[in-house]
Amino acid sequence: MRPNVTVLGLGPMGRALAGAFLANGHETTVWNRTPGKAGGLPGVVEAATITDAVTASDLVVACVRDTATLREIVDPATEALRGRTLVNLSSDTPDAARLTATCAAEHGVEYLDGAIMTPTATIGTPAAVFLYSGPEQLFRTHEPTLAALGGTATYLGADPGRAAAHDLALLDLFWSTVVGTVHAFRLARTEKITGAELAPFAHGISALLPMLIDEAARQLDTGEYDGSEANIASAVSTLDHVVTTSEANGLRADVPRAALDLFRRAVDAGHGADSIYRVAEHLHR
Ligand code: NDP
Repeated sequence: MRPNVTVLGLGPMGRALAGAFLANGHETTVWNRTPGKAGGLPGVVEAATITDAVTASDLVVACVRDTATLREIVDPATEALRGRTLVNLSSDTPDAARLTATCAAEHGVEYLDGAIMTPTATIGTPAAVFLYSGPEQLFRTHEPTLAALGGTATYLGADPGRAAAHDLALLDLFWSTVVGTVHAFRLARTEKITGAELAPFAHGISALLPMLIDEAARQLDTGEYDGSEANIASAVSTLDHVVTTSEANGLRADVPRAALDLFRRAVDAGHGADSIYRVAEHLHR
């Protein structure tokens, strides 16, 4: 017999999670603020109230917009949650995760915070990536059930904010990449280059990312910024060309200008000959 699971939230991600638990033979109860969203999940039990949903399983997995939303929706079921485990897979800040962990402890609820690092299509497949933090024993107890969600589940430590902290840092990388990508395609278009024409060369840039990430990690951890291969002063020049051409061609240049200003601050501080990763020191307020 596999343990019952309750899933709170039936947005795209909550539905994917419920589907994966079902597919792995867990009796799955769901609840969503807006009822009637369990269509296409044959076999799930749609609870009429949040209290009914929580009461159906010892393990309650929540995936809603954010952690404040979670606290709001479980508020009427606080007593029902006592003694059960709440795994929160909603994205939020590290402090929001810590606050929710504190609230949970005050109400006798076992709390594990988590972050999902991959899209809905990966859930239940080997490509899914989950991060967890909170009491290790709690994670180990529910690890076999959470394995139904597929992929890798990495435990990051007892601080409940640690999964969210990894999530945020990785989202920072993700959104910077998205904005950089769309700006590059728009800039190319102002020079009559189509997306299809630029894409193969853009793939070449993205292929550099793994090396760049490893090098950034090494240099930021050691504080050794060897600029013999590429330095900040040289980067200022190429960033300036991006900003100048963007603005000349009628495109907003806020994003590359922010990068240019950062690199210029590093040069002004005497770090022009150092490697580009030293700009990290100039991010602090
Ligand atoms: P959303 O972020 O849009 O969350 C939808 C869910 O939140 C629904 O259950 C919705 O209920 C509920 N909700 C939103 N606002 C409220 C509210 N004020 N009160 C009560 N319930 C509310 O969609 P996703 O399912 O995609 O995301 C869920 C979480 O998973 C988010 O934190 C997201 O960042 C994270 N995530 C999502 C990924 C994805 O690919 N989709 C990838 C990785 C993480 P209702 O139906 O009633 O509106």
